[in-house]
This record gives sequence, structure tokens and C-alpha cells, in this order.
Amino acid sequence: MSSFFNDIKEERIYKFFSGGKWVKSSSGNLIDVLSPIDNSLVGKLQAVTEDEVDEILEQAKRAQKKWANFHLEDRAAILKKAAELLRTYCDEITEIKVLEIAKTINSAKSSVLRSADIIDYTANQMNIFNAPYDLAGGDFSPKAKNKNAHITREPLGVVLAISPFNYPINLAVTKIAPALLAGNSVVVKGPTQGSICTAMLIEIFNKAGVVPGAISFVSGHGATIGDYLVGSKYIDMINFTGSTDVGKNIAIKAGFKPLLLEMGGKDAALVFDDADLDLAAEEIVEGAFSYAGQRCTAIKRVLAHRDICNELTKKIIEQVKEKYGIVGDPRLIETQMGPVISLRQAEYIEAMVKEAIGEGAKILLGGARRGNYIDAVVLGEVTTKMRIAWEEQFAPVLPIISCKDEEEMISLHNQSQYGLGASIFTEDKAKAYEVALRLEAGVVQINAKSERFPDSFPFLGVKDSGLGTQGIRWSIEAMTRIKSVVENKS
Ligand code: NAP
Repeated sequence: MSSFFNDIKEERIYKFFSGGKWVKSSSGNLIDVLSPIDNSLVGKLQAVTEDEVDEILEQAKRAQKKWANFHLEDRAAILKKAAELLRTYCDEITEIKVLEIAKTINSAKSSVLRSADIIDYTANQMNIFNAPYDLAGGDFSPKAKNKNAHITREPLGVVLAISPFNYPINLAVTKIAPALLAGNSVVVKGPTQGSICTAMLIEIFNKAGVVPGAISFVSGHGATIGDYLVGSKYIDMINFTGSTDVGKNIAIKAGFKPLLLEMGGKDAALVFDDADLDLAAEEIVEGAFSYAGQRCTAIKRVLAHRDICNELTKKIIEQVKEKYGIVGDPRLIETQMGPVISLRQAEYIEAMVKEAIGEGAKILLGGARRGNYIDAVVLGEVTTKMRIAWEEQFAPVLPIISCKDEEEMISLHNQSQYGLGASIFTEDKAKAYEVALRLEAGVVQINAKSERFPDSFPFLGVKDSGLGTQGIRWSIEAMTRIKSVVENKS
């Protein structure tokens, strides 16, 4: 690691970041971060104590006032500097990220570069603040003709940003950059598996010139320190991405705080009988298996019209064989799918697949497991009685359900507790649009896999998939509030 990151660690022991300083916890408790690739030690994290959390948050509260007093242009310039530094140190961050969360090199690198683009784009959104607007009361009622409202936007205060393991840089940046531009201070709780590269990201913002205390970093198991953080009186807003269970727990423990929650999903690909099946198969395979299916918007079920189900399944299998290796294939790490994040997760998914087999599903491809490496699994003859049809697998497993018609596909889609993304494959664009409006999902793609891209588009989940809207502009709006000053003309 280059000298740029000297302060964040001693040997392989990483520190937390409080009041503009990298410090060790008084607890003396350290958490091992082991690589999912081979179980080797990547580094150790501090398990921060409740007192240390208080200290971080008090400093964040004080620093927020100072940071908000910076000119908007100056905050934007610091963000741009952070984007530049992120590009400069991209390879180093990528290297750690690959070890920590077992992303392929290309995908780890491209998401760091994408994060730099997000920061730049965010810094260019100053018009959201520069354009306060006036409302004339007389437009509503003649009785209000003497009243004019002058409406501006102001920061919420201290934002707690909690990110998941699968995009530790990207999903931290989508919270940090809009929060900072708006004049909030940010306290980042990184995922335990992914906290080392998160620490590197925090140092990027620090060295770019964010005032001490306006960005901080907490390490420690969410299960241990999470409730305390979330419930703190110093936190003014929580911006969380992760599982539905944890998100719901946060909503309960947070008390009266604004929340932005991005949670789990069970994104479906609906394939109609008039679809381009080559395109559908290609998109589905990419959507279901990249990063071993550990993406919120991974395609987690296929609802296929029964007239094309067999042909589509054949094409999906061909594509998987072509793109993904088998267990033990050395290409897995470099160019292919990679392992799932932990042995526990691998065992969980294996049990879910076995249960489905017991109930009549058929493994059409894959299914072998060695440790936390799982062959891409294509699962046919899946019925709605099976858990795999409804539960989020977060793994390289694709259940295919044959449906008698489009109405059944729409109905099965909407019976899910989740509603993150969905995709519709059909040659009939008008019908696709009509169906898209009937799907209970935040984002619907036509003839493409579901994904969270581009970051300037709104992104949201409905039902158990989320609360509120992300996307650069919407994230800024969510982390600010309106101030209305009413002038009364005499
Ligand atoms: P997770 O277990 O819910 O963890 C997410 C984050 O919450 C981690 O930083 C975790 O810290 C922290 N956490 C855990 N318990 C907490 C508590 N009691 N209070 C506060 N924070 C707590 O999720 P994950 O396994 O990292 O990520 C996979 C899940 O995220 C999937 O369900 C996926 O669909 C979802 N996801 C959703 C989106 C979206 O945009 N909707 C995007 C990506 C991922 P520790 O790591 O220390 O436990």
C-alpha cells in the first residue's frame, strides 16, 4: 500500500476515523477480515465502543456547522478533488477490494471508477441549491395575495451512511457525495467485509480537504454496534443499503429520524412469447450470475411464457457454459464469477437448492460446491410452492418458472414481498410499457437486465425493497430539507 494510506493502519491493523484522526479503539478488540477467495487474513479492524461512537458523533455534530458554512462551490471543489484522488488510487483500492470481497478485478476496478464519476456528477449538481424559488400566495387565494414564500434547501445535520458488502465503495459514495455537497457531515459504517477499502475511501475524502469531523468512519460488527449508532440522538438521518431484515430493524430502532432504505430484492425477468430469446438469455445470464449473483438487482427468478420456456432455458444454459467456469477453474477469480462472500452463505444457498430438489425442481446445470465456490446453478421445474421462488438467494442460482400467460407472470411478479427491479423481454414495446406500469417494482427495464445504472436516474424499491428514492438528484433531496421563509407585504 502506498504512503498515501500510511495513517489508516499499522501493519495490517486498520483504524477508525474520528474527528479527522485515525485512531485505535480503547477496547483492544480486533475483528479479522478474511478473504472469501482463500480464507487468508486481509487485515484487522477496530471494534469501536459505544463511548467512541459518542465521541465520533459529537465531533461530527460540531464539524457539520463548519462544513455547512463552506461555500457550496468550495464543497463541490473538494468533492472533485476526491474524485481525482479516487482515480489516482483506483488500482490500490481495487487490489484490496478483490481480496476483501472477491470481486473480479475488472468489476472491482470499474465500480471504483464509476464511483469517481458519481462524485464528479454530484459536484456538478449545485443548481439544486442555487435555485431557490418563490411562490406567490395569491396564486392560491386572493386572501394570500400579500404573502410570498422564499424556498431554499438546507442540510439535515449528521447523516449515518451504512453500506453493504457487495458494493463497499460505490454504495458508500452514493451516500457520502450527496450528503457532503448538501453540507451534512457523514458518519460511515462500512460493512465488516469491505471495511478496509471503505477506510481507504474515507482517507480519499479526508485528503481531498473535507473538514475534520465532517467525515468519519466506524468499524465493528453491525450486530454489536449498529443499534447504538442508529438510535443515537446525534444522528439526524440514516441512509442505509443492505438486507431487508436489517433495514426493518433500523426503522424500528431509529426512532423519529428520516430514513432512506435500499433493501433486498427478488428481481424477475418476465420473458414473453414474442421476445428475442438470444437477447433475453444473454441479459438474464449476465444479470443473474455476475459477481456470483450477489447484487441487489441480480435477476433472481425468470418468469417465462410456457411456449418459449424450453428454448429460453436451453439458450440460458449455453450462455452459462460459455461464460462461467466450473468449481476449481482457476479462471474463476480472474475473469469469472468468484466465490460467494462466506461459507455460511454458501451453505444457506445449498440447503435452499436441495430443498427445492426435494420438492421436484431439477438442476439443469451446475450445483457443485467446494467451500464457498458454487457452480452457476440453473434450476428448472420450479413451482411457486418452493422457497426458492420467493426468497432472496443472493447467490449464483437461477430458478426458472414456466407461466401459462402474461397475466400469470404479472400476478406472480406482484405476489413477491419485494419490489426492487424487474425486466420485461418482448418485441412489443407498447405492451412492455403497459405491463411495466402494472409491475410493483421501483425500476422496470425493457429488454435489458435489471440494474442500478446510470446513477443519475432515480433508483428505488417498493414494498420490502426500500423506502425513499436514491439517484444523485434524489439523494441530495432526501438529505436536505426545505426552508420556507414567508414574506408578508404590508
Ligand atoms: P446486511 O447484512 O443487511 O448488512 C448491511 C450493512 O448493515 C452492513 O454494513 C452491516 O454491518 C450493517 N448492519 C448489520 N446489522 C446492523 C444493525 N443492527 N444496525 C445497523 N447496521 C447493521 O447486508 P449485506 O449482506 O451486507 O448485503 C446484502 C443485502 O443487501 C442483500 O439483501 C441485498 O439485496 C441488499 N442490497 C440492496 C441494495 C439496493 O440498492 N436495494 C444494494 C445492495 C445490496 P456488518 O457488515 O458489520 O454486519
